[in-house]
Amino acid sequence: MLEEPDFNVYPCRGEYLVLDKNYSNLINSMIYPVPPKELGVLGVHITPTIDGNILLGPSAEFINDAEDKRTTKEMMKTLFNEAKKILPALPKNVVINAYSGIRCKLAPPEEGGWADYRIEESEQTPGLINLLGIESPGLTGAPAIAKEVTKMLSKYVELKTKNNYKTRKIKKKRFSEMNLKEQSDLIKRDKRWGRIVCRCEHVTEAEVIKALFNPIGAQTLSSVKYRCRAGMGRCQGGFCTQHIIRIMEEQFNIEVYKMKLKSSNSNLFYGKTREKEND
Ligand SMILES: Cc1cc2nc3c(=O)[nH]c(=O)nc-3n(C[C@H](O)[C@H](O)[C@H](O)COP(=O)(O)OP(=O)(O)OC[C@H]3O[C@@H](n4cnc5c(N)ncnc54)[C@H](O)[C@@H]3O)c2cc1C
Repeated sequence: MLEEPDFNVYPCRGEYLVLDKNYSNLINSMIYPVPPKELGVLGVHITPTIDGNILLGPSAEFINDAEDKRTTKEMMKTLFNEAKKILPALPKNVVINAYSGIRCKLAPPEEGGWADYRIEESEQTPGLINLLGIESPGLTGAPAIAKEVTKMLSKYVELKTKNNYKTRKIKKKRFSEMNLKEQSDLIKRDKRWGRIVCRCEHVTEAEVIKALFNPIGAQTLSSVKYRCRAGMGRCQGGFCTQHIIRIMEEQFNIEVYKMKLKSSNSNLFYGKTREKEND
């Protein structure tokens, strides 16, 4: 936004499949194939998540529109078949969701689809540090990238280490991870801890309300899901969506028609399928 770019981004979509938590014991570590030679990607691998769901993927598909995060039936089939090659015991009907992310590749497929990251100070705008093409494994690389950027910035700003910086986040126990005594103590204090909103993940009404009012509060159905896992289970919100909507309606005092799934144009409701007079 500050200057004329001297690079092109070649968006490359990666789709993933999410498996039902009940099948978490299919593997006990990550399983990677030998990476394919072409495209500069790792190939479909199998990854256990910290919450117990296994991920299959990702795919690698160069696309024209960097915002096109759709998932496709064809790719879902391909991912499943590729994963089955490395995990023949993979059962059918255990996929509960699919999603995608876009890699910001700096090289087109004709050039191998892979280029090094560009971590550099802009020549046109001194003091502006560009981090370009931070595609996979950019998350793993983030701490090292941050150190590099710190060095670059220290030319302009005096950077001091904070003494009170907390390097570890203390994970709060979820209701489902508590023992019976801890659970009943909470319910005695506030009965909303005793109302299960998401039956698959055992998320309570109190946890949904906490998600709505946490420091970066949740305003959409997806943000509630990301913060407390309500809707992440086998039924994918089939049961809890209506309850979360009711809680949001009560807490925010807004009409259901204004509620969004995620983005500003993702209305959850458009009208009634049945209507009675005065209802
Ligand atoms: C399919 C796939 C698989 C991957 N696998 C791995 C892996 O196994 N290991 C690994 O280490 N990495 C992996 N990555 C890469 C990793 O996700 C990225 O490298 C990392 O997320 C890059 O971080 P970032 O902060 O640079 O950008 P992002 O995480 O993309 O963050 C940029 C943020 O800026 C926001 N934004 C954009 N425009 C604006 C604007 N105008 N105003 C305000 N906000 C804006 C976006 O919404 C976004 O939240 C994978 C990526 C994909 C797509």
